[in-house]
Amino acid sequence: MPILVMKFGGTSVANLDRIARASKRVAREVANGYDVIVIVSAMSGKTNELVGWVGDTSPMYDAREYDAIVSSGENVTAGLMALRLQEMDIPARSWQGWQVPVKTTSAHSSARINEIPNDNIMEKFGEGMRVAVVAGFQGVSPEGRITTLGRGGSDTTAVAFAAAFEAERCDIYTDVDGVYTTDPRLTDKARKLDKIAFEEMLELASLGAKVLQTRSVELAMRYKVKLRVLSSFEEYDPEAGTMVCDEEDIMESKVVAGVAYQRDEAKMTLISVADRPGIASAIFTPLAEAGVNVDMIVQNISEEGRTDMTFSCPVDQVARAERAMAEAKDSGEINFHDLVADTDVAKISVVGIGMRSHTGIAAKMFDVLSAEGINIKVITTSEIKISVLIDRKYMELAVQALHDAFELEKA
Ligand code: ADP
Ligand code: ASP
Ligand code: MG
Repeated sequence: MPILVMKFGGTSVANLDRIARASKRVAREVANGYDVIVIVSAMSGKTNELVGWVGDTSPMYDAREYDAIVSSGENVTAGLMALRLQEMDIPARSWQGWQVPVKTTSAHSSARINEIPNDNIMEKFGEGMRVAVVAGFQGVSPEGRITTLGRGGSDTTAVAFAAAFEAERCDIYTDVDGVYTTDPRLTDKARKLDKIAFEEMLELASLGAKVLQTRSVELAMRYKVKLRVLSSFEEYDPEAGTMVCDEEDIMESKVVAGVAYQRDEAKMTLISVADRPGIASAIFTPLAEAGVNVDMIVQNISEEGRTDMTFSCPVDQVARAERAMAEAKDSGEINFHDLVADTDVAKISVVGIGMRSHTGIAAKMFDVLSAEGINIKVITTSEIKISVLIDRKYMELAVQALHDAFELEKA
């Protein structure tokens, strides 16, 4: 029988009623003739609660225990959905990551999937099981310990299963009815897209649109998985949602596809570092070793052999960055006057593959922000995106103004 992967996010399994509702969707696809692999998240709020408990117990926690604890929310929803389906007379059973097994690297809390052998689940399908309910977000390391895939990781579990089982499609059920031109929670002018190109979705996801985990889009692109995002709350409609697809499958696309934002960024500036060969390496190697995810980097013009170096990173990594820089200074690897952290910034990005062939998008973006009196602190660009760092208090305003200026509410 053809295989379908259906993933339900936290709000779609937030309580027993929602699990029952999701189970009805699964039952319908079983009736349509599919063997179904369901990937479930933890009930909404659960993973945050577990993460909080870890931090309250042990601030410098052991990452292996973090994963053992934080992965547990998914086990509950997987078991509950299997039970609900059994109550509906559908042969179903739950699977934890290690049982499949979902084989990952040993990078605890941000592991990557290496392999998903499909024989165990296929054997059960062969024996009459119709639904495998798999706990998302988790796997098992070569050392045999439980791992997790980073926040939002159940999306990646779902796409990886779709690839490993050559599923006909991977449906991501969530609390919005598709991918929008920007976060629909930020402006009611956001428009749902029927289709979006992999490259654009990849940029939007990595620039903050959390509707899909970035890695899931990468995998779908690489393995040609048919990926759809849709709502678990709306009535069943086979045409619903947004298809993430190849650029060639989109007849007409706009120059700018969407606007993304990242709320919790920080801008760090090393004041007066020696401008000499190797200085960037001397700064960014210790930051990388300390696990700081540096994003934007700007080096100023130097004066009398000294310069300022600015970089951005997530706000919760500022303390780690400060420690790494202080240590590098103490050991004499770098020498700087001061390290200034601005923890009240946000990153706004406009994304679109049309930018490859259209000029003037950056100028227009800067115009729009200037007309709103918003100061740009750092700029970076790539072939299909432009990102700026601005004061966080202007984040909503900037997103709305850019959405208006690029006329994204119009099809
Ligand atoms: P789930 O728990 O189902 O995985 P998430 O909360 O991870 O759901 O992702 C869905 C959320 O992503 C939406 O509620 C929405 O606020 C947010 N979001 C951000 N940008 C976008 C976008 N461009 N299109 C749709 N949703 C977006
Ligand atoms: N429950 C995990 C999280 O909240 C994984 C997921 O839902 O995708 O990040
Ligand atoms: Mg998610």
